[in-house]
Amino acid sequence: MKFLCIGRNYAEHAKELGNEVPDEPVIFIKPNSALLQQNSSFNYPEFTKELHYECEVVLRICKNGKNVHERDASSYYDAISVGIDFTARDLQATLKKKGLPWEKAKAWDNSAVLGKWDFIPAGFDKDNLQFSLKKNGELVQSGHTKDMIHNFDKIISHVSTYFSLNIGDVIFTGTPAGVGECVVGDELEGFLGEESKFRLTIQ
Ligand code: MG
Repeated sequence: MKFLCIGRNYAEHAKELGNEVPDEPVIFIKPNSALLQQNSSFNYPEFTKELHYECEVVLRICKNGKNVHERDASSYYDAISVGIDFTARDLQATLKKKGLPWEKAKAWDNSAVLGKWDFIPAGFDKDNLQFSLKKNGELVQSGHTKDMIHNFDKIISHVSTYFSLNIGDVIFTGTPAGVGECVVGDELEGFLGEESKFRLTIQ
């Protein structure tokens, strides 16, 4: 299982980090060791001093595939939730400046948090989903899938050009504006619509 992650998929977020809005999806991968197992605690990593949350809609791949056409893409995912693409922002800034890959800033152990899955119902309107993150009970991030630069089907089609999709893979679809720092003791809670999908405390 791997995480296929999309960067800069919301124009406002690209702007807040001073990045250009890309004309095709920015992709990076987290390995399966990045998954924070259910009921495990999340510990602040020792190699960063600037840990950021990025709340994102996540999709679960249900069919193996390669070179998937956009018109067929919706049959390749069957479940949806929200998750966190934890990022060591200070490390990422250093790596970006040197033109180096992001893995050390993004793909470390436990950097991928997944909420409880919902099966996608028939007739589901994927461009009309609201999601949000609260930190210590206060709303810090709020996004809507209509604001994505590349929608779910475009993402699936694009990533499958480069990487085979395997059953159980997870797509992180990009974070909206409002990313920010978290510290030991902070509680993060992610919502898809009104429904709470995960809650964790940084330890
Ligand atoms: Mg992200």
